[in-house]
Amino acid sequence: MKVKINETKCIGCGVCVDIAEKVFVLKDGISEPIESADLNSSEVLEAVKMAIEVCPVQAISFVK
Ligand code: SF4
Repeated sequence: MKVKINETKCIGCGVCVDIAEKVFVLKDGISEPIESADLNSSEVLEAVKMAIEVCPVQAISFVK
């Protein structure tokens, strides 16, 4: 499982970075998933789920 950002939707608000700094980084004003993020960590996974919920433009999703 991976985390995906819809770059067309993302407005670069930074909320996902604040919530899950191990998973997201802002690059050129758009959030980008960090490849090495450990999604097997329940703590990290919960943070991603929260970021998905609060992203104002629903730009974050899980992909297989
Ligand atoms: S919370 Fe959503 S809109 Fe804001 S930076 Fe993250 S992906 Fe982009």
